[in-house]
Amino acid sequence: MPELRKDPIVDRWVIIAKNRAQRPQELDSALHTRAPGPCPFCEGNERATTPEVLAFREPGSAIDAAGWRVRVVPNKFPALTTEGGSEHRGEGLYQSLPGFGAHEVIIESPRHLVSTSELTHDGLCEVIAAYRDRLLALKADRRLVHAMVFKNAGAAAGASIEHVHSQLIALPVTPTAVQEELDAALAFHQQRRCCIFCDLVERERASGERMVLDLPGFVAICPFASRFPFETWIVPTAHQSHFESITHAAICELALALREAIRRIETALNRPAYNYVIHTAPFDTSDLGHYHWHIEVAPRLTKIAGFEWGAGYYINPAPPEEAAAFLRSAEVDFTTPQNVPIKEAR
Ligand SMILES: [Zn+2]
Ligand SMILES: [Zn+2]
Ligand SMILES: [Zn+2]
Repeated sequence: MPELRKDPIVDRWVIIAKNRAQRPQELDSALHTRAPGPCPFCEGNERATTPEVLAFREPGSAIDAAGWRVRVVPNKFPALTTEGGSEHRGEGLYQSLPGFGAHEVIIESPRHLVSTSELTHDGLCEVIAAYRDRLLALKADRRLVHAMVFKNAGAAAGASIEHVHSQLIALPVTPTAVQEELDAALAFHQQRRCCIFCDLVERERASGERMVLDLPGFVAICPFASRFPFETWIVPTAHQSHFESITHAAICELALALREAIRRIETALNRPAYNYVIHTAPFDTSDLGHYHWHIEVAPRLTKIAGFEWGAGYYINPAPPEEAAAFLRSAEVDFTTPQNVPIKEAR
């Protein structure tokens, strides 16, 4: 069984999950090719996955059979399991928890598409609705404190299967990256009496320098201290701390913004591997005035190397102001990789 271990020096959890080593590597990161054989995520191959926990299906179609549009299944090689309790095990310095949690895969299309940008608008709306529905279902389990939705697109971003999909991991603890944001946002709110994300949206709109998209309900910006070249955040313009509180209307607006942001990144950078992650408030809090959910998108154009690993800081060779300008012009200006304003830093 997997185990969550807390670093005895800093406030950081690690998931020790031996079974993850057994998962098949369909995508070869060196060759960028797909292994032969049937795709487990294509319609008709439902038996190749674990039984579904959610599916949006055509009326009359059977569970775990063809006829679905979006399908959510537990990961076959989970980093965490739903068996057992979530009680702390402490031995002095060494604190640990059983690897309790959920690890699910959201299969975004029955067809063998490889990118979010290939989904129809309605299709992407249903993917976002599936994220919301799964978070609401997992939130009902009091042992879980947080769920993170993420996408690994392309082998260089950690994907092992090409078919368009995303994942979610629900944990009995709040991930460090989210906790750091929560703490900083709370301190800002106590001092200035406003949400730092709402303030940031206002400032970025006023300057326009780092703005990629300003659409109804959502903006896409390259953040001031971008860690990665072309890092892009998609932020709702109305204050909301919990992603799972998203309305039907906002789902449609988010689908437009997310698809357009990814389409621009793909056009401008010649379809790079990328990750996105939804940062949202923990389940055991409600309607926080200081926190504001958002999506962070990071194209994988540079490798995390010695300094980044050692320092926890990043060296970004692409200024976010130039990256944003490049993404703004991406629609009209189809650009080849040679025109990408990135210099190799290391
Ligand atoms: Zn497929
Ligand atoms: Zn806000
Ligand atoms: Zn964040």
